[in-house]
Amino acid sequence: MNHSNSKPAATEITSELDLVCEPESRTTDRSPSSSTARPFLGVHFHCCQVYARIFIAADGTAYRGSCPRCGKPVSFRIGEGGTSHRFFDVY
Ligand SMILES: [Zn+2]
Repeated sequence: MNHSNSKPAATEITSELDLVCEPESRTTDRSPSSSTARPFLGVHFHCCQVYARIFIAADGTAYRGSCPRCGKPVSFRIGEGGTSHRFFDVY
């Protein structure tokens, strides 16, 4: 599903537009089609003893992320008949 219709210029800011006061522009959401929650895996990074979530990649073939402390990159390919585990350990 792709909702990336080119937007009309409705978000243009003029000096009269202070009626529309958005409290917060919805975190750092860079992809236009991510209105729903993306699937993620829970990963325990043993390098730093921290737990983090990594999210599915844009192409949907893998989960990618990195250790929040040291930045060690991890990826889990999604294969057919693959594991249904949602939690992994990374050493
Ligand atoms: Zn780490």
